[in-house]
Amino acid sequence: MKNVVLITVDCLRADHMSCYGYKRKTTPFIDKIARKGMFFKNAFANGPNTRHSVPSFLTSTYPLLFTQEAKTGKFHEGRKSVADFLKENGYMTGAVHSNPYISKFYGYDRGFDYFNDFLLGQVEDEIERSKISKALHEAVKGFKAVFMKKLPHEDGERINIEAFKWIEKANEPFFLWLHYMDVHMPYIPPNEYLEEIGVKKYSHVKKVWLGKKIDDVKLREKIRDDEIEDYINLYDGCIRYVDRTIKELILKLEKNYSDTIFIITADHGEEFREHGDLGHSEKLYDELLHIPLLFYGKGVKKQSIDKIISLINLVPTIFYFLDMKKKDMKKNAWLQGKNVFESDDFFIAEAWKDERITAYRDREWKLIVKGKEKELYNVIEDAKEENNLLVNEKKFSKKVKELEKIIDNHIKFLEKERMKRKTILQKEKIRKAMRNLIMRNK
Ligand SMILES: [Zn+2]
Repeated sequence: MKNVVLITVDCLRADHMSCYGYKRKTTPFIDKIARKGMFFKNAFANGPNTRHSVPSFLTSTYPLLFTQEAKTGKFHEGRKSVADFLKENGYMTGAVHSNPYISKFYGYDRGFDYFNDFLLGQVEDEIERSKISKALHEAVKGFKAVFMKKLPHEDGERINIEAFKWIEKANEPFFLWLHYMDVHMPYIPPNEYLEEIGVKKYSHVKKVWLGKKIDDVKLREKIRDDEIEDYINLYDGCIRYVDRTIKELILKLEKNYSDTIFIITADHGEEFREHGDLGHSEKLYDELLHIPLLFYGKGVKKQSIDKIISLINLVPTIFYFLDMKKKDMKKNAWLQGKNVFESDDFFIAEAWKDERITAYRDREWKLIVKGKEKELYNVIEDAKEENNLLVNEKKFSKKVKELEKIIDNHIKFLEKERMKRKTILQKEKIRKAMRNLIMRNK
């Protein structure tokens, strides 16, 4: 059985990578392996931020399968992750990252033999801190950032070190998931990576100040439009840094474990005020959804694929490459997506902000529905999604009806799935309780 290394980069939008045609040479290493492997030009996340996208792509289920996750953040047991499946099939499973939203605290270590989120106790601390001395904490954080060059997350180099340590001890086949935070705000790349992409240097103090402003929700609103260019420069420098980190990882693993398949993707993109905001809030425009996706390594043919696919297809495609057919897998009903060769040429993305937001997107059309508000874009003529065709024109009502029907059916499908999974979990609970009772009476 092949080893699987899943690399996800937080906030990495495809159109800022040179393999997707970006003007700056941000990803020289990824460009190279994109040419050797299976490269998806039109891959999309099914949710616009970590909390919506990660539970979805790890399990091939839609973000709003369990809407209460949007409130609690807990990874629902009605989803079964790629780690669970591979562990059941004899894999050793490991994960290294430092994003609190997908930490052990929220149940994301499920299915992993080894799970390093660097956050032992920190999530609890954060909750406690919000009650007492937030201002003091912020001051200490600022001091650390300026004088100790400390980032709010672990950098890619550190993630690699921990991954290498685990792999040395792990048995094959292994499944390793690495999630890099280097492209996430506050965007503080070392200057050498800015030089490499031909961007002017920034002093460390300036980088920390810009980072502080974008990290703080209130200060973020005050950022002037003429400052956006600085943020884009720094964001691009971070991409160049993460490209180097991925290069270090793949070259080393490839040398020692030839029977390995690598996947590179991102949980979502990033917005630079294309639709009025910075960062990655609950919106479903392409700058937040269009992400990189490529498969590379043992048994992967060189191919560039145009078809529209989304991350719901990720896990089934991994199983395809491992030759784990659906019939081989117990409980295959847990997956909602198909592999990329069998999937539809459209996708649905969703997010929760006070209410459901849903988007349908194919090669030509995108419909976004939030309550009574609707937006329709022709993404061939209007790739930036600036001209909502429903503002003045009635002639699209037939198209809207057709797409709305697909969305309605999707929502009904999720409702049924939710009920089905809750029943399965209930039955499992009862079975477990019965077993415990029998054991106790023996
Ligand atoms: Zn994220």
